[in-house]
Amino acid sequence: MATATETQNKIMLDWLRDAHAMEKAAEQILSRQQERVESYPDVHAKVKEHLEVTRQQATRLENLIKSHNGSTSGVKDMVSKIMGNVQAIVNAGAGDEIVKSGIGDFMFEQFEIASYRSLIQAAEQVGDDEVKRVCEQNLEEEVEMASWLEKNLPVVTADFLQRQETGQKSKR
Ligand code: MG
Ligand code: FE
Repeated sequence: MATATETQNKIMLDWLRDAHAMEKAAEQILSRQQERVESYPDVHAKVKEHLEVTRQQATRLENLIKSHNGSTSGVKDMVSKIMGNVQAIVNAGAGDEIVKSGIGDFMFEQFEIASYRSLIQAAEQVGDDEVKRVCEQNLEEEVEMASWLEKNLPVVTADFLQRQETGQKSKR
């Protein structure tokens, strides 16, 4: 029978794979957005920046999983469901895509934050300092993005409404 630590290690490795799938989903969402939100330069720049951060996070996790003798393959049901939900929110907005994608992004960042907080706890319990360090670094970057979104969603909303009023391009 496996020891408690072996069992916990296995669960932690599964969660690392989930986190990797989550970052790959984030990469898809952000790269799509990057091509679409061009008439909002601040949002465009931030999405571009966080896309780059996201790619680094995915690579970081990939290396971590490899060094723990795991593979990143496999279908990730939960992540694809979350991603589908984010996409549904964005698609629901016809003319207000910029606002809806801001809401979807905020939701996704909270999902990432919760995932890393849980993984950090697991790493502490297993006693894996490397996993803990990588997850803390990724968490810090998600918190930064989430607070940017929190601060800027009202700004973007106001801008969107103003553009509606003056007949400027507002959708995205
Ligand atoms: Mg991320
Ligand atoms: Fe993120």
